[in-house]
Amino acid sequence: MRKWVFWAVLLLLLTADAVWSGTGIVGGRGGLRNADLPMESSSRNNELLAITPDQVYRGNLLLVNREYAVHAEGVATDIIKLSEHPELREGYGLMDHSIRLSKEVAKRFGGMVKAAAGDGVSQFLISSGYRSKKEQEQLFAQKGSDYALPAGNSEHNIGFSLDIGSAGQEMSRAPEGRWLREHAAEYGFILRYPEDKTEITGIEYEPWHFRYVGLPHSLIMQEQHWTLEEYLAVLKERQSYSATVGGKTYIITYHAVSGNTVIPVPADRGYELSGNNMDGVILTELPSSTE
Ligand SMILES: [Zn+2]
Repeated sequence: MRKWVFWAVLLLLLTADAVWSGTGIVGGRGGLRNADLPMESSSRNNELLAITPDQVYRGNLLLVNREYAVHAEGVATDIIKLSEHPELREGYGLMDHSIRLSKEVAKRFGGMVKAAAGDGVSQFLISSGYRSKKEQEQLFAQKGSDYALPAGNSEHNIGFSLDIGSAGQEMSRAPEGRWLREHAAEYGFILRYPEDKTEITGIEYEPWHFRYVGLPHSLIMQEQHWTLEEYLAVLKERQSYSATVGGKTYIITYHAVSGNTVIPVPADRGYELSGNNMDGVILTELPSSTE
């Protein structure tokens, strides 16, 4: 009799779980997520999306550091030589003609320097962008582990990072450096190795190294004073995070990825998906245009 009750309860739990996923309520992990959300969110229209394991290693939010190396699928597929695209390199200089970057990131950077010029700050100079693993290997051999990361462990190996200098003076004091520290987050970029976070990043202060992560993530990190390491840890721990940026609310959720993972995504609005390069994907639900 007891056994029967046990199986009945188990079956009931399994059924309840199936119904829960079937309705596509986002992040039904112990209800933690829904408690964080405005009421309307739980009634949103969702559909299920199958996630393949390689998606953990693609996207704007990849964490690349000494611990987590770049996977081949993480390298930007739109790497271009900036000197060959005059339309993308207005308003800043290049230290040499071989500098490459993701085309998308170059466009965002171009928009950002245009805004800086509007504030009278215009002496930007890019000294480094995308580096192949081989180039990183040579740099590592030249500079050693105190000043360079091993091949495959540098953000420069994915094409979303760039070293930005000033033609006027040293970046930590230059108006270009100051402007970027203040405004880069509005354009999707973060100062990746801040002065007071060297223990977390494991890298000395680099006032020149900026990384593209996209909006709204850059603004959240700036507002909360989080490095990428800290931001991704918070998302994993809370599993759900909602942020209001420019009067619009974004819902950001972490989903662990194992062999066969299916996650609910909005059916009636846009979303972005990025791996964290560790163990999961981050889903960013974009605000609907009516909000
Ligand atoms: Zn750099």
